[in-house]
Amino acid sequence: MSRIFPRNSNSQPPIGMNAQGCYLIDSQGKSYFDGSGGAAVSCLGHGDRDVIEAIKSQLDSMAYAHNSFLSSEPAEQLADLLVDHAPGDLERVYFVSSGSEAIEAALKLARQYFLEIGEPNRHKIIARRQSYHGNTLGALAVGGNEWRRAQFAPLLIDVSHIAPCFAYRDQAENETEAEYGLRAANELEEEILRLGPDQVMCFVAEPVVGATLGAVGAVEGYFRRIREICDQYGVLLILDEVMCGMGRTGSLFAHEQEGISPDICTIAKGLGAGYQPIGAMMCRETIHDAIKMGSGFFQHGHTYLSHPTACAAGVAVLKKLTGGLVDGVHEKGRYLQNKLHERMGENAHVGDIRGRGLFVGVEFVQDRHSKASLDPALKFHAALKSAAFAEGLICYPMGGTIDGRNGDHVLLAPPFISERAQLDEVVDKLGAAFEKTLENVGLR
Ligand code: PLP
Repeated sequence: MSRIFPRNSNSQPPIGMNAQGCYLIDSQGKSYFDGSGGAAVSCLGHGDRDVIEAIKSQLDSMAYAHNSFLSSEPAEQLADLLVDHAPGDLERVYFVSSGSEAIEAALKLARQYFLEIGEPNRHKIIARRQSYHGNTLGALAVGGNEWRRAQFAPLLIDVSHIAPCFAYRDQAENETEAEYGLRAANELEEEILRLGPDQVMCFVAEPVVGATLGAVGAVEGYFRRIREICDQYGVLLILDEVMCGMGRTGSLFAHEQEGISPDICTIAKGLGAGYQPIGAMMCRETIHDAIKMGSGFFQHGHTYLSHPTACAAGVAVLKKLTGGLVDGVHEKGRYLQNKLHERMGENAHVGDIRGRGLFVGVEFVQDRHSKASLDPALKFHAALKSAAFAEGLICYPMGGTIDGRNGDHVLLAPPFISERAQLDEVVDKLGAAFEKTLENVGLR
């Protein structure tokens, strides 16, 4: 009997023994295509020799040093690489070990920034419904995912949630995309005015919503209007690129495609590509300067900040991403979406196939014309996850797409090294699992 405290106490996952390229192999020798890169982590696939060698070499020289005593070459190098490749003026990097930690750091930095510049009233946070920003209490409070929040609600700080930008469901028939984008973004202004502009500290959003909506990007112009509103009211814009960043959507930073730049940006997952746990919070120099000129000390920290071995992995990963690997992501993503349309697009229970780059979602419905969702009691997403796993495909289905209860989707985030034939394999396996699931839940 396993002594691990598992995610699901009633189901024991197989033991993984080996991982190479796009595949993971369990102790029974069964092979799985890593179609979601775990949770949009394994952008390079598995077994990348350059990353492994970089980690080994760092272990030989200095595995760990507490960053209040010593910095390290890989941490300095990784910070330089990130700043050099970031659009806009994200010029300082704070390395942590996960996406949730990056969000916690971002929130605390936003608060301390306003104290340092003499605006102590600013403490309120606005985020969006149907978002996910992590599972630590601060990050969970910011996220707008009802089923994850519900049982911890009494422990969560008060955060306002406005609507996401979700054209498939929320754009009205008599509205152009641009009009819808403006209407959705203007909810931020309404909420700032309702809370009191001098009270609001930050707005937090994922440029492309991952786990909770299934690869939903905003319509053109939405984020430009968001930026304008934040500037007008002196509110910090925090973009959470933990899942959609590091090339996943076809550009190193997802917000490059929005023509704006945030005040603070969080990254993780693809930065370590699964070889090491690492995340980062990046911010504008002006925010860092406020601390430097003020108290001089960001009142935060963890034992593993700027972990040298994790940073060494990050340097090796980032060199690959910026060395040409991300260039192919758009084209591969288009190919994947086209193949999904061919295989499943006409099915009455497929409502929407969407995404950017190799970040692709399929939303399942009861009826594609009315967009009515499936009965949540069917637990379609859970049945699909099991059926896909049985087919040898790891993917990331989720329920509650619409409001935390209704709606089902699957998220695909295959490694950037995937060849066309392998993307065909993902589509074949997902298609087969989808058909079996329809049968299993009585829809066929
Ligand atoms: N932010 C986003 C957008 C995420 O998708 C996630 C995880 O899925 C997180 C934050 C939390 O990251 P972690 O699980 O590494 O704490």
